[in-house]
Amino acid sequence: MKTLLQLQALDLKIEALKGREREIPKQKEKFEIRKKRLMEELSQSEQRCKTLTVEQRECEVDIQQKEAQIKKYDMQLLGVKKNEEYQALLHEMDTLKKQNSLKEERVIALMLEIDEAKAHLEEDKKRIAAGMKELDAQITKVDEELAATEAERKELEGQREPLLKNIDEEMLSRYTRIRSSKKTGAAVVPLRGESCSGCHMRVTAQIINEIMAGTKLHACHHCGRLLYHADNFEDAPLL
Ligand SMILES: [Zn+2]
Repeated sequence: MKTLLQLQALDLKIEALKGREREIPKQKEKFEIRKKRLMEELSQSEQRCKTLTVEQRECEVDIQQKEAQIKKYDMQLLGVKKNEEYQALLHEMDTLKKQNSLKEERVIALMLEIDEAKAHLEEDKKRIAAGMKELDAQITKVDEELAATEAERKELEGQREPLLKNIDEEMLSRYTRIRSSKKTGAAVVPLRGESCSGCHMRVTAQIINEIMAGTKLHACHHCGRLLYHADNFEDAPLL
C-alpha cells in the first residue's frame, strides 16, 4: 500500500505536468495571434502611406499632361482664323486650368496627409517592434517551460517502473482501473474521520476497523476509490 501511495503521488505529478503540457501550446498560440495582429497593423500603416503617395504621383502626372495640353491649345490659338474656334479653344484652356488648380489644391492637402501618415508609420514601427520583441520573449519563455515540463514528466515516468514491481498485482490492477475510469485525481484516498475523503460519504465502522487493522483492501462503496488509514502510513506522500 505504501508503494502504491508513492506511485499515486508520482502519477498525480505526471498528470499535472501533462495538463501544463496541453496548456502551454494554447498560450503560445495566443502570443502568435497577437504577433500576427501587430504585423497586420504595420502593413495597414504602410499601405496608407503608399496609397497617398500613389495618389500624389497620379495628380502630378495629370497636372503635367493638362499643362502640356494647355500649351498645345495656346500654339493653336495663333493659327485660328474663326472667332468661334478661338472662343472654343479659350474655353477648353480655361476648363483645363480650373481642373489643374483643383488638382494642385489636392496635392497640397496630400503632402500634409503624407507627412502625417509617415509620422504615424514611424510611431507604429517603434510600438510594433517593441510589442513583437515582448511577444517573442514570452514565446521563448513558454517554449523553455514546455521543454522543462516534458523533461520532468519523462523523468517521473521513468520512476514508475521500479515501483510497479513492488506493488501487489491485484492492488495495482484495481488502482489502474480506478485511475482510468476517473481520468483525473486520486484513486487511493485516506479516511477522513469516518468518511471517504474522495466523495465525503460515510464508511461503515466494520470497514474502518478492517482498514485500520490493515488486513483487507477496501474500496469506498460510493465512489469506488481505494481507502487507507493515514495513521498506518504516516510517512506516505500527502494528498
Ligand atoms: Zn468515496
